[in-house]
Amino acid sequence: MSDLTFEIESNPAPRSTEDRAALMANPGFGKVFTDHMAIARYSAERGWHDARITARAPIPLDPAAAVLHYAQEIFEGLKAYRTADGGAALFRPEANAKRFRSSAERMAMVPFPEKAFIDAQRKLVEIDRAWIPDTPDGSLYLRPFMIANEVFLGVKPATEYLFITIASAVGSYFKDPNGTVTVWLSEHYTRAAPGGTGAAKCGGNYASSLAAQAEAASKGCEQVVFLDAAERRYVEELGGMNVFFVFEDGTLLTPPLSDSILPGITRDSIITLAREAGMTVREELYAIDQWREDVRSGRQTEAFACGTAAVITPIGKVRGREDDFAIGDSVAGPVARKLRSMLVDIQRGNTNDSHGWFQKV
Ligand code: PMP
Repeated sequence: MSDLTFEIESNPAPRSTEDRAALMANPGFGKVFTDHMAIARYSAERGWHDARITARAPIPLDPAAAVLHYAQEIFEGLKAYRTADGGAALFRPEANAKRFRSSAERMAMVPFPEKAFIDAQRKLVEIDRAWIPDTPDGSLYLRPFMIANEVFLGVKPATEYLFITIASAVGSYFKDPNGTVTVWLSEHYTRAAPGGTGAAKCGGNYASSLAAQAEAASKGCEQVVFLDAAERRYVEELGGMNVFFVFEDGTLLTPPLSDSILPGITRDSIITLAREAGMTVREELYAIDQWREDVRSGRQTEAFACGTAAVITPIGKVRGREDDFAIGDSVAGPVARKLRSMLVDIQRGNTNDSHGWFQKV
């Protein structure tokens, strides 16, 4: 079963070069999809089987499929980059494969073999490589996901699953890739509770964050900052990103991982790169009152969000029910800019990678 590999099916007519160029001229984020997808099935009798790279198409789903009722679903997000020599590369796909496995375990789903996960990403990038934008902020966003598709109404782990990866040509996640974002402090809604599913990448976490995200948008903010559910005191993460704080002595702080924070691969990469560059990175609880005080006193000079989609995006302003506070001069600070270029240079193959993170396709 661990030898599952994806077979590339004969290629049905993809869209023309002109159609593709028109779609990719201004792709935005998550709207322009490529010609193919990877798909595999699981049944109790056959295990994982029928792994194929095939034409992207709607999937037939029985109205009683478990995912539609009980949300047994997980996903991942990673990017393929265009390299300077015109090739393609993935960034740490094995880290996504591993997180996909732990998400599956938390959601009582049958894990997808990690080797096969990477095989699917590589083959999909290979066949759809013409869809990787060659703009400085562009990339091919890969979205592997797994759903419970057993036809059964009952609250129990399903016995049938579908693994799929789709791909989307994307530009930058935020409108202004060089600007800062304003974040909304969610004082009413929380994202994840101790013992809950916050550390798993499951659709339900995002469904439950939407009311907070809508509230943020209504206050003119791009993202939500969530506090811990138990005390409503400690900063955990953003709706779709981890968070770092930079202090005047040059040290960095990020909240420690727990079962209510998604263990971001960008977060992990930044911690590694920053430490190698001689910076001190503390993984410590950080209270919201402390955040206010550190910003007001000037002790905190920068804050930034990080994730596959957002890369490193500086936070310019925090808005709460009762107050606003601006960090630094509301422009990208030197630490965020430096870490961003260190990371992007590895992702795009512009520098030596001593970690084995950059993987040519
Ligand atoms: N937190 C949440 C809630 C996320 O959705 C994401 C995006 N996957 C992240 C953090 C950042 O994770 P990564 O760096 O692996 O993209």
